[in-house]
Amino acid sequence: MRITIARYAGFCFGVRRAIDITFKVRQKNPRKKIYTLGQIIHNPQVIEALKKRGIGIVHDIDDDRLKAGNIAIVRAHGIAPDKKQILQSRGVEVIDAACPMVLKVQSIIKKASKTADLVVIAGDKDHPEMDAHLGIAGDKGVVVENVEDARRLPQARRISVVAQTTFGVATYREIISVLREKCEVLDVSDTICRSTIDRQSEVRDLAKDHDVFIVIGGKDSANTKRLAEIAAKENRRVIRVEDPEQLKEATIPQTSQVAVIAGASTPHWVIEECIEVLKSTHTHAGIENAVLNFLSATPLLPSLGSLGIAMASLVFCGQRYSWDVLLTVFFLALASTGPHRTPRQWPLWAVSTGIATSLGLLSAGLTGGLLVIGISLLRPLIDVGGVADYLRSIYGLVVFVLISIITPLSLERSSIAPGVFVLAAYTAVHYLGVEILLGLKNMERDAIIGRMSLARYIHEEHSIMLLEYAIMGLALMLFLSFPLKIAPALAYGLLPPLFFLAKGIDFYHEQVIFDNRMYTIYVQSLWVIIPAMGLLWKFTMM
Ligand code: SF4
Repeated sequence: MRITIARYAGFCFGVRRAIDITFKVRQKNPRKKIYTLGQIIHNPQVIEALKKRGIGIVHDIDDDRLKAGNIAIVRAHGIAPDKKQILQSRGVEVIDAACPMVLKVQSIIKKASKTADLVVIAGDKDHPEMDAHLGIAGDKGVVVENVEDARRLPQARRISVVAQTTFGVATYREIISVLREKCEVLDVSDTICRSTIDRQSEVRDLAKDHDVFIVIGGKDSANTKRLAEIAAKENRRVIRVEDPEQLKEATIPQTSQVAVIAGASTPHWVIEECIEVLKSTHTHAGIENAVLNFLSATPLLPSLGSLGIAMASLVFCGQRYSWDVLLTVFFLALASTGPHRTPRQWPLWAVSTGIATSLGLLSAGLTGGLLVIGISLLRPLIDVGGVADYLRSIYGLVVFVLISIITPLSLERSSIAPGVFVLAAYTAVHYLGVEILLGLKNMERDAIIGRMSLARYIHEEHSIMLLEYAIMGLALMLFLSFPLKIAPALAYGLLPPLFFLAKGIDFYHEQVIFDNRMYTIYVQSLWVIIPAMGLLWKFTMM
């Protein structure tokens, strides 16, 4: 089975922004009663997560729960100005999370209602966006859903036409040509949002080239329904599902070429779970899946990275590899790094801690053994204590930087060469980079389940900027370290993982690796480049 994931699948900018605003409002107002005016997105898991955080839904502004002191959040579709005023006059704090594209349409309608005889809004009568648009257009506003509606309109001198932001591009064009015959002056505004246009054109292309077309999204989501309709014009086999469970029921031949798209209110993790179902239920790739799951869920790859860091540290200090020291480091990293651990993973921690401590005692004496067990014991305290994710990242960062600095000290008659500090800087940037990239990929899910990753803590744009500057600064430092006699020429061997770390930012922006599990493996496997370089150094230098 060949699976193509649409480039524009999942949350659009406006929906994501509305969700972010909602969770931030909750954070700032932990005690207030908060309600969204209608479902913020048509996704049962997100609605459930909001409910758990005490954010309810009201469908009518006359709802008794909307009283003075409470907060009402306007969703991405916007709100009619008179309704907003009524709420504010009642003492309700109104937070407007309307999408800027929707607000732009509203401002066009406002101007048009002063100059045109008729303001035509192409869209679905029952779509929530229409309520605000019609409220602003007043008596001049009229909704047309299709060409037939447009034909029934009376003649007018001047007509202004706008479209609901998620309306079909082709239908809008047809409506415009009908309206040209209905008036002397027609003011046309391109108000279908970019996200919708891109999605619709991608659906048409993908539906033509694939045997099966899967559309993921809530059953009440208008834009998901429209995507399925557009796909159905090009492809006989369109499957519409809300979640991975429904996809399991579908019959999809193993040899099919499958395209997957999702509506603007479908969270990324739902799409990813659907992809996993496609791969595991509808293909024979059982072993491949097991390996990928193992690599993405265990700290094996970063632990191999710690081994490479320790190798580099010894090389930079002119020392030979001591395999008992290197293995101590590997098992220490296995015990102390990685994401939050479930009880099932504690045996791995216990075995790794035991081996690391024994090896530490043998190779570096009592001090080494105590240091290893001290670091390892912090890990369960952090996990059981419910420490925020970004603090767990900082703990891992400290462990890795310590490994880069103190590994040579575990050997007799060894001192720290200046190049080790370049290595420590490299280790810090690599570790932070991995944590930030993984945090960025899980941003949506983390916001909804309340996990505070490093990327969320620093904020998306700031964390990307921080990482970009750190990579550039470090690359410069690595280039200069050999001519300035701070580190051996082998320091150049650290540049390839840095390059691929920078590529990880591009991949995130462009969604080149959509699958979360594959992205995790890509990012984590960058650690493996360092021990590979370490082996190369061994054969070239020793
Ligand atoms: S579909 Fe477009 S207009 Fe609607 S919320 Fe998303 S970005 Fe905004």
